Amino acid sequence: VVLAEGVHKSFGLNEVLRGIDLQVLPREVFCLIGPSGSGKSTFLRCINHLEKINAGRLWVDGELVGYRQKGDRLYELKDSEVALKRRDIGMVFQRFNLFPHMTALGNVMEAPVQVKKQTKAVARERALRLLDRVGLADKVDSYPAQLSGGQQQRVAIARALAMEPKLMLFDEPTSALDPELVGEVLDVMRGLAEDGMTMIVVTHEMGFAREVGDALVFMDGGVVVESGHPREVLTNPRHERTRAFLSKVL
Ligand code: ATP
Ligand code: MG
Repeated sequence: VVLAEGVHKSFGLNEVLRGIDLQVLPREVFCLIGPSGSGKSTFLRCINHLEKINAGRLWVDGELVGYRQKGDRLYELKDSEVALKRRDIGMVFQRFNLFPHMTALGNVMEAPVQVKKQTKAVARERALRLLDRVGLADKVDSYPAQLSGGQQQRVAIARALAMEPKLMLFDEPTSALDPELVGEVLDVMRGLAEDGMTMIVVTHEMGFAREVGDALVFMDGGVVVESGHPREVLTNPRHERTRAFLSKVL
């Protein structure tokens, strides 16, 4: 679903991604770990068209991110074309950033109605089903401020799913949560994985990576240092840098 070849990204003189090569397969739960500042969020943002890469190639679903190819020429996509592609990618952040003036139901209905032009009745029906799926059937009329962090994050997941994405990106979805609320969010993500959603998950939850992950990549300094099956990487890291990182987070 995602293929990166030599992806580079700089902010001014700061070269954040220094040649990322990786591949995410359909229905895979792809976990991304690494120290602060290693470029994990930046890489997710590149996949989601929020940042432009400086060199290399990045494909989502067989299509080049940011460009259209004609023969051997590349043309930059227009904003409207980028917006269309972004619809197929759901993203969940560390901070829930729900619309504070809308109920849980309103939050989940918003994009399908505004962007996909679904009728309110259809969007409402689907939103109710999604909120039920994330275990919030009894909270549909609550506002974000009336919900716990874990509940808000589950609304955020339902909101992303409402656009029927082909790919879900999670950027440390549980790291802003109180420890006792982490499990309920991970359970929802586990359910999504079981339903076959393709997911890229930046996380410090090594238990989740080990049990649910199909692939694990350790990034440091803007490159992939090590990748493999999560159990393999976590129990038998080949590189010293991976070992040093894991000894701090495990
Ligand atoms: P963390 O674990 O702390 O979330 P990360 O691996 O997600 O870290 P990034 O957020 O991708 O790291 O940041 C990598 C580097 O890119 C940092 O040095 C950061 O300062 C820089 N950076 C990120 N976004 C921007 C931006 N919009 N403008 C300038 N520099 C940026
Ligand atoms: Mg980050």
